[in-house]
Amino acid sequence: MIGDLLDRNAQWSDHKNAEEPGYFARLATRQSPEFFWIGCSDSRVPANVVAGLDPGEVFVHRNVANVIHSSDMNMLSALEFAVEALTIREIIVCGHYGCGGVKAATEDLPHGLADHWLEPIRRLARSYAVDLAQEDNEEARRDKLAELNVVEGVRRVSETPILQRAWKDGIGIRVHGLIYGLKDGRLRDLDCTVGPGHFQKEAAQ
Ligand SMILES: [Zn+2]
Repeated sequence: MIGDLLDRNAQWSDHKNAEEPGYFARLATRQSPEFFWIGCSDSRVPANVVAGLDPGEVFVHRNVANVIHSSDMNMLSALEFAVEALTIREIIVCGHYGCGGVKAATEDLPHGLADHWLEPIRRLARSYAVDLAQEDNEEARRDKLAELNVVEGVRRVSETPILQRAWKDGIGIRVHGLIYGLKDGRLRDLDCTVGPGHFQKEAAQ
């Protein structure tokens, strides 16, 4: 019920103010989050909660299955604001095991609009079909695909003109890929961080 939600909000706000007088007045003047989080819309993976961060500490963009479409104006606007206005230097693409969006992308059933949205994951599944076949079961295959989707997301964020321009200007932004386990509440680093100099190194190889 919406009434319960409003009651809980009033309790939370009173508690926070009692704990730290002037908390909201201070936070209202400005935000200076250290992280930009791009994650899945899944209700079980709220950025602030799983990363142990308070309001004001993480700028967030979420969509179904944390897909990075290079022409998604919503994501690009948030990314540009994060980098240029909030001067955030740590960007996180976070996927999660047991992702319903990733599962939908592996099924033959029609899912309406979601099939358009999830198309990059279907494409990844085709590209990595041989690797995915090595996994023991369907759940492991989907979790592997969720990891691949994060790595691909990091690459796509890194290739946006926003990041390319920032790196060219000598700004030390790093883009990290993490995956969250619904079963244990832990975030894991997928070791696919891209930072300044990455593309020069690749070009030199
Ligand atoms: Zn998900």
